[in-house]
This record gives sequence, C-alpha cells and structure tokens, in this order.
Amino acid sequence: MIPVNTPLLDGNEKKYLIECIETGWISSEGPFVKRFEEQFAQTVQRRHGVACANGSGALDIAVAAVGIGAGDEVIMPTFTIISPAASVVRAGGTPVLVDSDPVTWNMDVAQIEAKITPKTKAILVVHIYGLPVDMDPILDVANRHGLTVIEDAAEMHGQSYRGRPCGSFGVVSIFSFYPNKHVTCGEGGMVVCDDDQLAERCRGLRNLCFQRERRFVHEELGWNYRMTNMQAAVGLAQLENLPKHVLRKREIGKRYQDQLRDLSSVQLPLSQTDYAENIYWVFGLVCNEDSAIDRSTVTSRLGEKKIGTRPFFWPMHLQPVFQNMGLFEGESYPVAERLGKQGFYVPSGLGLSDHDIRCVSTELKNIIADR
Ligand SMILES: *Cc1c(COP(=O)(O)O)cnc(C)c1O
Repeated sequence: MIPVNTPLLDGNEKKYLIECIETGWISSEGPFVKRFEEQFAQTVQRRHGVACANGSGALDIAVAAVGIGAGDEVIMPTFTIISPAASVVRAGGTPVLVDSDPVTWNMDVAQIEAKITPKTKAILVVHIYGLPVDMDPILDVANRHGLTVIEDAAEMHGQSYRGRPCGSFGVVSIFSFYPNKHVTCGEGGMVVCDDDQLAERCRGLRNLCFQRERRFVHEELGWNYRMTNMQAAVGLAQLENLPKHVLRKREIGKRYQDQLRDLSSVQLPLSQTDYAENIYWVFGLVCNEDSAIDRSTVTSRLGEKKIGTRPFFWPMHLQPVFQNMGLFEGESYPVAERLGKQGFYVPSGLGLSDHDIRCVSTELKNIIADR
C-alpha cells in the first residue's frame, strides 16, 4: 500500500509535544504559538504571522481583514481548491474567474485585466501544485487599478518567485499546515502581512473579535480559528526542517520526471520557469485527451495495485454549490475543465521512499503501455 500522502515527522515534533503535555500548556495561550508565528513570518520575510486553526480559516480572516464585502468582485483562478472562493462568497463578495495556463496550471495572468470592472476590489492569487503564479504582471495590474492582492500560498512553503519568498507578495497572504503541505501541524494555517493594524485586525477576527477593554462586547463578528499550542509545537519542529523538506520534495519530483519522461500520453508538471523551480507540492499528471487512456482507467488500475491517487481540483464554475447560487452561468474555461477532468496526482508526500517512487512509476508505465 502506497498512500497518496505520508507525512514526515522526524525532527523535534515529539520533544516539543511532550513539553506541551508536561507543562500543561495545550491551548492557544501556550508559548509555542508565538514562537511559531514569529519564526514562520521571518521565514517568508513578513512582519507578522497570525496562526490559525487551518488554511481555509486563514482565508476567511484574510478576505474579511482587507474588507471584502457585499458587491465586491474578486478575481481568482477557476482551477483551485474551494476555500478561496468560499471565503469570498461567505463575505458577500463575488468571485470572478480566469482560466488556467495549460503548461503551468496556474491562473492565466493575461486574462485578468479584461475581467476588471468598477466593482473589482482584489485579485486572489492561488499558487498551484508547486510552481508560483507569474507575480510581476499581477502586481503591475493591481498597482495600475488600485486593487488589493490576496495571496493563497497554502502549497508554497519554501518556494520563491524570482528569489522572493512566496507568501511575501500579498497585502495579506496565507498558508495551510495540512499534513500534505511542506510544513504540517496536523491541521493549521497562518495569515502573514506587514501592516501592524491589519495584523491586529486578523488577530481579532481569529478570536471572535473580543475586545481588550470590554471583553464580551463585540463590534464585529469573528471566528474561533485559534491554533493550539500542540499544533504550533509540531509546526515549529517542522519549520526547522523546511529546507530539508523542500530539497526532498524536489528530489521526489526529479525522480518521477526521470522515470516518467518517456510517457507520451500524459502531460507531466513543468520542472521550471524563468522565475521559479518547481517544489512539487504534489506530482500531477494530465492524461492527453486524444490518447486511448483516460484518468479513471489509470487511477482505478493504480488503485488495484494499492497505490493512492487524487483527482485534480474541480473548477469553481462547475461547482454545483455555486451554480445553485446563480454564479458563473454560461461561463466556460476550457483549460481548467481539461485539468479537472483528466488530471490526477500520485503519491508525493515527504514520507515517500525512493523505492515507492520506483514502484509507482513502474506501475504507471505498465498501465499506460497496455493501451
Ligand atoms: C490546502 C489548501 C488550502 C486549505 O487549507 P486547509 O488547511 O486544508 O483548510 C487552501 N488553499 C490551497 C491552495 C490549498 O492547497
């Protein structure tokens, strides 16, 4: 059995967790939370880190903190996890979608400007699967039109764009620490930013908008999205190993690239662009539409061999929940649709062995050569 993700917890995780238990500090008031926030923020060159219960919660906070509300339009990729669009819709805003680049799988930055209207308030950038979005054109459009950039860097710990860390580009940026990310807390997230007031706002939104002076009197609604000291203990230990984790992820990616290079009926991830080298958050493959092999055949055959896979994200404009709200009616984004239908990823976690990579590659080659 080779699961689609196996985490790697071989640093100080156990030691720090024992410290939580022995000192009795298990809630969000414990000392690891602040340490994790400070060290994480420093890693991505931001002034502030606000640790949260998960990445989706971090997005809720980020979207609310920059003031997205009723009537506001937010431009984002259709090919992404539901969280960013869900945060915008819950805030009363409207996601406005762009298609993907067929090679990088990230949002096609050339499509953004045509989507700007007087209601556009922000661009929500989501870096997908290990390669950053091409940020320079986005920062340029945002500047020219006075738009806020929100950055979802949930898959980008340790990645950089033209030498600058991902997570340092948004007015507010977020990370997730789910077990398949390069830094995990089991569950967890972080909002990062530079502005002192914005950081204060995020801290308030994370903690039910309690007020300092009149604790149980609320001017605004927030959430309980606090991170526990135990999550932060694991996160801090993971962060200490981030450079090692990124090296290993790139090694996993290179091994798959070498072993799968000759498969003609699938598209492999781009290994680099002129602005970044892939960190392979996951190793994705997209079946060519004109070949005899399709995703469901490949993934079910891999499943028979006890090899885990996951389909790619399902585009936002095809989500029943949004269609039922009357969103995205009649819109089509052909690249994202192809990725959503034909894309899947193979086991790519940090706990994967070289032997596992060889097994997965061999099975893939057998299945695809069978056709
Ligand atoms: C994982 C992920 C999230 C959500 O994070 P959770 O911690 O699972 O809530 C958000 N955006 C992207 C791009 C992700 O990959």
